[in-house]
Amino acid sequence: MYLKPMELALIGAQESFPAMHARCSSAQAKLALTCSRITCTKTTRHPRSAPKSFDPRLLKLIPYIGEGLSMYACTAGQYLFPLYESLNIYFGDLHWWPGDSPFEVIVGAILTQNTTWHNVEIAIKKLKAKELLHPGRLMETEDDVLAELIRSSGYYNVKTRRLKSFVQYLCDEYDGSLDRMFAEDLWHLRETLLRVKGIGEETADSILLYAGEKPVFVVDAYTRRILQRHGFSCKDAGYGEIQALFMTNLPNNVPLYKQYHALLVNTGKTFCNKTPRCEGCPLGGFNACLNERSLAAV
Ligand code: SF4
Repeated sequence: MYLKPMELALIGAQESFPAMHARCSSAQAKLALTCSRITCTKTTRHPRSAPKSFDPRLLKLIPYIGEGLSMYACTAGQYLFPLYESLNIYFGDLHWWPGDSPFEVIVGAILTQNTTWHNVEIAIKKLKAKELLHPGRLMETEDDVLAELIRSSGYYNVKTRRLKSFVQYLCDEYDGSLDRMFAEDLWHLRETLLRVKGIGEETADSILLYAGEKPVFVVDAYTRRILQRHGFSCKDAGYGEIQALFMTNLPNNVPLYKQYHALLVNTGKTFCNKTPRCEGCPLGGFNACLNERSLAAV
C-alpha cells in the first residue's frame, strides 16, 4: 500500500509519542497533521478544527514528527513536507521577501550576494531616499554615485555594474517593463536572466520567485547544508538536483516555495551554522541519517 508523506508522518508520530499519551489525562491523544498546522487534542470531545491561536504545546510535538516519520519514510522527498511542517510551526509565517515593489526585491537580490541582509537594508534605504528604486532613474545615475550609495553591501563597484547590467537587459529585452518581463514563460525567462552578468542561479530564482511570483524553488547554502547534514542530499549534489528534489516532491505553489526557503534560511542562521546546534532545533527529530560524520563534513 502506498502512503502519502503526510500519512506516514501521522502514523509515525502517533506511534512515537507515548510521552504525550502519559501526560494527557484522557486515554486518547490525537495528532492531526495538516499542510499548515498541527493540533493535539486530549479527548475526542474536542473540536475537530485546529485552534485559531498558536498552542505552545505543539512545540513539544515537533521532535516526534521526524522521529516517527523515519520509521516509515525511505526517500528524501518523503521528508520534505514533515520537515516543512516542523519549521513552520516553530518559526511561523516569515513574510519573505521584504520590499515595497518588485524592482526593490530585484535590487535586494543582487545586493545580498555575499553579505548580510542588514547591510543590504542600509543600501536600499539610501537608494530609496534618493528615489532611485526605479529602473530608468537608476540607469541614469553615475556609477560612482551609485557605488557610494550601496557601499554598505560590499563589493560595491561590482554590484553597481551588476545592477546596471540587469537594468540594461530589462531595457533591451522588455522596454524597461517588469510586467512584460514577468509575463514571459518561467524557464525561458530564467535562461535569459542567467545570461546577465553577475546573476547566478540563486539570484535568478530569488528574482523569479519573490519579485515575479513564479513557482521556482530557491536553493541557497543553508538549504544545501541542512539537506546534506541529514543525509537527504550528497555532498556533490548540484543546484539543479537539489531544486528538482523540492520541485518534484512539493506542489507547484508560490507561497509554499517562498515560505519554505525563508524557513530554511532562518534555520540555518539560528541553528545550523558551521557548528550545528541540534539541541533545540526544530529539525532535531529528523535524525534518521544525521551522524557525526555528516555534521563534521559540512
Ligand atoms: S542544527 Fe542539527 S538538527 Fe538542526 S538542521 Fe542543523 S543538523 Fe539538523
